[in-house]
Amino acid sequence: MNSLTEAQIRASFINASKRERTQALLPEDFAEIDWSAREFLGWRDRKLPQVGYVVCELDAEIVGIMLRQAEARARTRPQCAWCEDVTLPNDVAFYVAKRAGAAGRNGDTIGIRVCEDFECPVNVRRLPPIPYPGFDREAGRQQRITVLGEHVRAFVGEVLGCA
Ligand SMILES: [Zn+2]
Repeated sequence: MNSLTEAQIRASFINASKRERTQALLPEDFAEIDWSAREFLGWRDRKLPQVGYVVCELDAEIVGIMLRQAEARARTRPQCAWCEDVTLPNDVAFYVAKRAGAAGRNGDTIGIRVCEDFECPVNVRRLPPIPYPGFDREAGRQQRITVLGEHVRAFVGEVLGCA
């Protein structure tokens, strides 16, 4: 994705109040983010442990959503709905996002199970395991990168109410 400024990110949240947008803490390593190696930016708020944020580009617009972790860690380790990583390098958490606009204000939410700290862009860039001899691992990696972007945009679009 293209690099974003702090102001662009704060202005992008579609399901957060003005106060929440102002109070959101950006990632500690914000200045060092390699934007070219990610389909979205996802992070947890350092001051609000249950709160996470995801920002991506959707139809050339920058769209950010705020999520809330809805339950304690699952006993089993389910797969992340976005990166579908099978090597399970990190935990997966259940997050809930308020829908944008009136629907969200009326309590309408959407849930999703994704990597706890939104590690998906890193996960899909690791070379995948070889499922059969002759498997093209580089093509497999590219495919996962593409699919991750589609999954994230589909979810953000759903929060926005255009799905
Ligand atoms: Zn993931």
